Amino acid sequence: MAAFSATISDSSRFLSSTSLPHDAAKPKRKISASSSQCRRSFSLPKPFPLFRLSIVSQRGRGKSLNICVQASVADISVEKSMDTVHLCKGDMWAVHKFGGTCVGTSQRIKNVADIIVSDDSERKLVVVSAMSKVTDMMYDLINKAQSRDDSYISALDAVLEKHQSTALDLLDGDDLATFLSQLHHDVNNLKAMLRAIYIAGHVTESFSDFVVGHGELWSAQMLSFVVKKNGLDSKWMDTRQVLIVNPTSSNQADPDFLESERRLEKWFSQNPSNVIIATGFIASTPQNIPTTLKRDGSDFSAAIMGALFRARQVTIWTDVDGVYSADPRKVSEAVILRTLSYQEAWEMSYFGANVLHPRTIIPVMRYNIPIIIRNIFNLSAPGTVICHIETEGEDGQRLESPVKGFATIDNLALVNVEGTGMAGVPGTASAIFGAVKDVGANVIMISQASSEHSVCFAVPEKEVKAVAEALQSRFRQALDAGRLSQVAVIPNCSILAAVGQKMASTPGVSATLFNALAKANINVRAIAQGCSEYNITVVVKREDCIRALRAVHSRFYLSRTTIAMGIIGPGLIGGTLLDQLRDQAAVLKEEFNIDLRVMGITGSRTMLLSEVGIDLSRWRELLTEKGQVADLEKFAQHVHGNHFIPNTVLVDCTADSNVASCYHDWLCKGIHVITPNKKANSGPLDKYLRLRALQRQSYTHYFYEATVGAGLPIVSTLRGLLETGDRILRIEGIFSGTLSYIFNNFTGTRAFSEVVAEAKEAGYTEPDPRDDLSGTDVARKVIILARESGLKLELSDIPVRSLVPEPLRASASAEEFMKQLPQFDEDLTKERQNAEESGEVLRYVGVVDAVNQEGRVELRRYSKDHPFAQLSGSDNIIAFTTTRYKEQPLIVRGPGAGAQVTAGGIFSDILRLASYLGAPS
Ligand code: ADP
Ligand code: ASP
Ligand code: MG
Repeated sequence: MAAFSATISDSSRFLSSTSLPHDAAKPKRKISASSSQCRRSFSLPKPFPLFRLSIVSQRGRGKSLNICVQASVADISVEKSMDTVHLCKGDMWAVHKFGGTCVGTSQRIKNVADIIVSDDSERKLVVVSAMSKVTDMMYDLINKAQSRDDSYISALDAVLEKHQSTALDLLDGDDLATFLSQLHHDVNNLKAMLRAIYIAGHVTESFSDFVVGHGELWSAQMLSFVVKKNGLDSKWMDTRQVLIVNPTSSNQADPDFLESERRLEKWFSQNPSNVIIATGFIASTPQNIPTTLKRDGSDFSAAIMGALFRARQVTIWTDVDGVYSADPRKVSEAVILRTLSYQEAWEMSYFGANVLHPRTIIPVMRYNIPIIIRNIFNLSAPGTVICHIETEGEDGQRLESPVKGFATIDNLALVNVEGTGMAGVPGTASAIFGAVKDVGANVIMISQASSEHSVCFAVPEKEVKAVAEALQSRFRQALDAGRLSQVAVIPNCSILAAVGQKMASTPGVSATLFNALAKANINVRAIAQGCSEYNITVVVKREDCIRALRAVHSRFYLSRTTIAMGIIGPGLIGGTLLDQLRDQAAVLKEEFNIDLRVMGITGSRTMLLSEVGIDLSRWRELLTEKGQVADLEKFAQHVHGNHFIPNTVLVDCTADSNVASCYHDWLCKGIHVITPNKKANSGPLDKYLRLRALQRQSYTHYFYEATVGAGLPIVSTLRGLLETGDRILRIEGIFSGTLSYIFNNFTGTRAFSEVVAEAKEAGYTEPDPRDDLSGTDVARKVIILARESGLKLELSDIPVRSLVPEPLRASASAEEFMKQLPQFDEDLTKERQNAEESGEVLRYVGVVDAVNQEGRVELRRYSKDHPFAQLSGSDNIIAFTTTRYKEQPLIVRGPGAGAQVTAGGIFSDILRLASYLGAPS
């Protein structure tokens, strides 16, 4: 944005504040280039203040506001020559506030001085915090002295040393001498005061406020000297002489604007200046007793000053690029918000966004003064503008998410006052909150269901004990009489607030919010939405808070589904899956907004864990080089424990029943499970039923498409039929790729044992072909489909025709078995011939007979024109006969074994999970 200059064209705007009722000073200002009636020119670091022009509402901003008791605005020397110098207020004033980090070192103080000097505003008031950590150090001094720990003396020396060395870096000559003499004088006073606190073993609030405010006194004086050294005449202001506040019982301070304004005018008449460096944080009571605006109060000081001066804008300089959509320390993907309405900023700060003190908004809002949050360490960033924004914004605004940002507050407890005796009884709420007020506790949110059975509210954890006791005693009689059933405390809670002015007019925002929380398996304990609809507040368990924040943030801001994955069993199938993920991850991320991150891989002996995601191009090497001893519990905890990613899936690529026995526990913890492992679904019926019930009750998903037919859509086809109301009559299929191959090739040209040997040679069988020929694997698939169809069968209920001759079942080795198999060829040769004579072929099939509620695995004969007779290679074929597909069954056919297709089946379950979790389709 270009620098901007304008000329005063209408002197009538310079009104005398003495002739103005206080309220007339309320601005209806239009801040736009065409309306700049006052003389000023800026040449600020580039994007400085002017982009507000495009976002400030045109309505509600009337004439420019410059209030001045004298016509003279520019020449301070003229004012000086008069008896009393009056303060001009209005757009000629720019207020800057520099936070502790901005003035944390001597170099940083120099940078701040440069920024002040390069701001060409006609007049500036700079509010400065204590050097970073200094306020903490001061509080620490008090705590030490109060608890009679004499190390307060050395701690005070450290404070002295910090400021002395900073001053030595920054100042010289008379300035240095003046500052050091003041510093030593103050430190001596503090020493005496701390000694008194030490002896008394007690400190009063005003003593404490007096001590802790010194950080600001010193930083403001140093900065003022440096600014002067840079050629800009400036005065420093001890705001205790100007800001008058009334301390309240709730550890807050309420500014007395009228008295402060009166004192400001007096101060200014004695210290006229175009550049004022003022202390943040500190103030006085009406009785002139030093006090503070409480922790982080310098933002509030700047806002009050902005209002007292009717400044053009207040710039709050800090260490981040502006207000983020969520605390950047908690959500790495948070984005900078270009604009926020006053209400949005207030809600964000009230609900925990500590970039701004919550009370900063009200004073500036009254005069429509915009606040700009900017990064002192990144001047090229435009920052965030907080100003009046109409609900029906400009086009750009409409495209924005209805939720502007999220904030959290930790360390809360919920208090639930419950009982049937509350319904319809006037005054219950008042009695409850009266009792809470009496113990000085701060109620952060309130929620009451319309049944009036319970009132639930959140208070800081440290206050809950007193609150609960007060309520117990206040409602003793009602509790004893049973009108109230309980006063319950739920500790370890956090608040998550979603803030946005546009939530008011957008349906479905809360649905989306709660959906995102449900999908991340987060339980919501209480909810509140004010009727202003600027804010939806939910209370969650503290340990879930960051995950909840990330889940909702990614839902509204990124619409990216991020899933943390753990792969168990990096063998043939698991390894192939990892390679497929490696090849596809970038496309998924860029084109489909799905971010799959493998946070761990574990075999039976070694596991590899990562905090950010394993580099899949090197997973094999990394597993060897960096692998640690495998521990499944630790593995699951690691993958799920990553708070940056709201969703976790464990992919079990083993055939291990021990791993399968963990699924229930994982699902309970909100970990999704995907597997080709048949053990869980074909294991004991009661465990299976428990697993499925859990899956139905929760938003946690369990997918196992690849347990039957590898990548073929068999389970999903079956589900589709059932869910749309079809009724399964029979499922019949060739479920084993190995046995498909064997019988497709057992055509009479070779003996059965020769075909088995050929299949083994070609790698179609398990290392021991008996594992295939026994039929157990097919029986497991039959059980899986039978149970999916609603039959309650155990594996032992399935009769299985084993193709392993009885005498060979106990053969020592696979080789021994293969050697002896030819001796038993005769039976099958005969069976095949009999079939052939009737124009039929033999096929090894699994059958689910839903009508008779049974299943079996058998060698059946099919006519040569039956689809099962037409197979080639190792294809699977499955026929579903249903009430809808009665004459012609629904047939699924294709390769049903092999690492690539099985891994592909698992992969498609992973993508299904992503879409269930909200990835765009
Ligand atoms: P200062 O000392 O300048 O007043 P603070 O530490 O009080 O700085 O506030 C700035 C910090 O607020 C940032 O460093 C950031 O970590 C934190 N913060 C929390 N929530 C947000 C948010 N939504 N946007 C920006 N910063 C935030
Ligand atoms: N120095 C004070 C504090 O740390 C005030 C502030 O920096 O805003 O709380
Ligand atoms: Mg702050």
